[in-house]
Amino acid sequence: MVPNPRLNRRSLLSYGAIAGASLLMQPQSWAANLAQLPPYKGSNVILIRFGGGVRRRETIDPDHTYAPFLRHVLTKQGTLFTQMELDQIEGVTTSHGEGTLYLLTGKYGGFINSGDFSAPRLRSSTRRGSGSLRDRFESQVPTLFEYLRKNFAVKDHEVLLINGEDRTAEEFFSFSNHHLFGVNYRCQVLSLYRFKVYRLRQQIEAGYFQGQELQQKTKELQKLESLDYRNQGRYVYTSPLSQFWDEWQQYYSDSGLVNPRGDRVLTELAVWALQRLRPKFLMVNYNDSDYVHWGFPAHYTNGIAIIDRGIQRIFETVAADAEYRDNTTFCIVPDCGRDSNQFLSVPFQHHFNSPSAHEIFALFVGKGIKNNQIVEKKVSQIDVAPTLAQLMGFKADYAEGKVLEEVFV
Ligand SMILES: [Zn+2]
Repeated sequence: MVPNPRLNRRSLLSYGAIAGASLLMQPQSWAANLAQLPPYKGSNVILIRFGGGVRRRETIDPDHTYAPFLRHVLTKQGTLFTQMELDQIEGVTTSHGEGTLYLLTGKYGGFINSGDFSAPRLRSSTRRGSGSLRDRFESQVPTLFEYLRKNFAVKDHEVLLINGEDRTAEEFFSFSNHHLFGVNYRCQVLSLYRFKVYRLRQQIEAGYFQGQELQQKTKELQKLESLDYRNQGRYVYTSPLSQFWDEWQQYYSDSGLVNPRGDRVLTELAVWALQRLRPKFLMVNYNDSDYVHWGFPAHYTNGIAIIDRGIQRIFETVAADAEYRDNTTFCIVPDCGRDSNQFLSVPFQHHFNSPSAHEIFALFVGKGIKNNQIVEKKVSQIDVAPTLAQLMGFKADYAEGKVLEEVFV
């Protein structure tokens, strides 16, 4: 459809009424703040969530692994903690959102679930719907993204979170509600959801749609953006991000049928991000192994193999890049383990609080990390955040874990 300038103006006006500007953003004060901060000179960090939920047996057990690159190649180059756990204490839940926030904040339970039906603040319009709306964890303590940006002059597109296509609740990990941190220190998120929002807004504002179609598309956009209500109406796409999505669209089109899907799209986004946005800190939230909830054990093991190949591709992208090679540290760690009860109709669940759902691992590889080391002492998932903080040169003040001193050269 040919853009119509007259309609374009009208559509912009009517759209402006529903969109509004984010009240949370304070761009001017933020820009001033950025100029006063020291430049970041630490190692680039890539945090890979090996999820959603895997057992040690199919990952780090050399005789049963479905992740040969992780176990047989990367492990020799770094430090592997074979006995990391989600602590067996009250309130610790073995699931994806929770585990991801334990990793990002270094604290168990430092969040509220605003998707909980008992949470009064959740608007009724967002209460209905699929599982993706149920768990919306808003962290009350800062995330690693925010600490990094509060300590150093790092732009928002240099701190990135890559999320799965059907996990809009994970948009909520980009910043906490902490009064000293929050949205001005957020990371940017790359996901098919964000791409969809970007394109739809761009098309509406360029006057692609008219009449009823325009109304329908405007409603669609409003619905999509309200999934992440903390952004109050619209996302901020800075120019590097707009350029990123324009290029993505030119290459893969809008159909969603050309670009890779599942965790393969996360790998693709990670590689594109490394090459185009040059992040200092990148987190990839893999989750294909979680398709086992549909009931087939092969979904679980295939998911692990897909994640392993993704890690290999990201690792090779880093190795082929003069600026990232020898200046990047990887941390690969699951969000949670999985149950071991093979008598259930759906094997490998993770909600039964069984010991193996608490059992995970962590592999650190790269700059500043001791190689070819296996550490068998019990450590905690909340130790990851303070360890990465030390590596990046700041202190995660609200984290409750310990720094894993063994990793450092
Ligand atoms: Zn799950």
